Amino acid sequence: MSEQITTSPLLLAGRWTEGAGGATVDVENPADEGLAGRVAVATEADVESAVREATRAQRAWGATPAVERAAVLLRLAELIERDGERLARIVVSEVGKPIREARGEVGGAANFCRYFAGLATSQGGEIMPAARRDAEVLVRREPIGVVGAIIPWNFPLALTTRKLAPALAAGNAIVLKPAELTPLSALAIAELAIEAGVPEGILSVLPGPGSVIGAAIVRTPGVGLVTMTGSVRAGRSILHGAAERIIPASLELGGKAPFIVFADADLEQAVASAVATRMMNNGQACVCNERTYVEASIHGEFVERYTAALEALVVGDPSAEATEVGPKVSAPELANVERIVDAAVAAGAKLVTGGSRLTGAGYERGHWYAPTLLTEVAADSPVLREEVFGPVTPIVAFADEAEAVRMANDTEFGLSSYLYTNDYGRVMRMTAALESGEVFVNRGGPEEVVGFHAGWGESGLGGDDGTHGFELYSRRKTVYASWGGA
Ligand code: NAD
Repeated sequence: MSEQITTSPLLLAGRWTEGAGGATVDVENPADEGLAGRVAVATEADVESAVREATRAQRAWGATPAVERAAVLLRLAELIERDGERLARIVVSEVGKPIREARGEVGGAANFCRYFAGLATSQGGEIMPAARRDAEVLVRREPIGVVGAIIPWNFPLALTTRKLAPALAAGNAIVLKPAELTPLSALAIAELAIEAGVPEGILSVLPGPGSVIGAAIVRTPGVGLVTMTGSVRAGRSILHGAAERIIPASLELGGKAPFIVFADADLEQAVASAVATRMMNNGQACVCNERTYVEASIHGEFVERYTAALEALVVGDPSAEATEVGPKVSAPELANVERIVDAAVAAGAKLVTGGSRLTGAGYERGHWYAPTLLTEVAADSPVLREEVFGPVTPIVAFADEAEAVRMANDTEFGLSSYLYTNDYGRVMRMTAALESGEVFVNRGGPEEVVGFHAGWGESGLGGDDGTHGFELYSRRKTVYASWGGA
């Protein structure tokens, strides 16, 4: 990119500004280490102003008929689609996601707006019989006020609307902090949200470091809910902050999804899905296949087919139409993948394919790692315990159902599991036995907006999507109504 790159301002309560500190930060393109953009960085004073103005503006927004709030979200969905190709290119430039997947993310971002617009207009309350005559007990849903949202870098567009759409639909204002690596997508959505008619004061997008701006969002009085997607480490810190203020925190944290294949499964379909679920977003999704468990009788054939599929993947420039796998998002993220694979190999794992950084033509710059397959991995190896977040698959054989369940549940995480089998009884037993918030049966991910994306264990608290996710964005008020006089 050219040197005369302009600085994107931040959005403070509906106004574009350089921020109180005047600082900027460069956004790197992970495919070539060039400049993808430059953005203004917020200060703690900006957070305070954003929350103060949001608190003021929210009353009118919360009192706006739900059908009108929904109309704004429906317009936003249309604008996201109108500018879909531009938005997809922004995602490619700051994440390194292959362009075809980036277009899918654009569709997902619009879908969140449409879905929550629908829920806005269908949200009801409850009416109970009272213990006295001429009286009723009503339980209403009311907005929380100001929602603080903190998101990671892997789906910067879709995760922006995943938080923004339910927050606005329920009548809240929102102060959102994008990840340090990927502020451009959230700012692009913010621009469209203003065009769609989100009133002044209601939306802020404040780029900046998590430990400063993220922490300030959590501790600023007026913020009534924090919804965060990211790592366990950051989630824990946010939960401490929320505890200090006695406010709810919804945390979507990491995953270590097992992908379990029984001998009776459709092998071709299972291999294709295992690869796709591992490689989505260059291996960087919380729902990725992080551990593949295969019944011992088909282990050899599965490994052979998986290797062939990995070696056939088109790796390279994420902006090229044919590309299936791009770079890791950053140099430290790449180093982490390398550390985990090296540790597995040092402890005796067998490297079937890949196992190193990519070098040579096309890979001179950027953060490239080869699609990698490991077998004979020790149970305590980091590749089976830590979130790898890269194009690396450990394949492990299991003897029977009981062993598959034991291996799958041997983790602190509990977000997603995948199961391939055509035995109906086994499906029912396994879906009951797997310790995770979601189980995909004979299909790959990602999750769908009508579901409830909520991790068990260290994978999170609260949850996103569906009617259960939407509930978190409002609070209940009980009204004891009487019209019977004394
Ligand atoms: P991260 O935790 O480093 O950062 C996420 C966000 O939290 C960023 O905006 C960051 O600035 C902010 N943050 C960091 N420390 C903070 C603090 N002390 N206080 C407040 N905010 C803070 O995560 P990442 O590396 O950007 O994202 C990758 C992680 O996100 C992975 O673990 C992945 O599994 C997880 N993730 C989970 C889901 C899900 O739905 N469960 C979806 C996508 C990603």
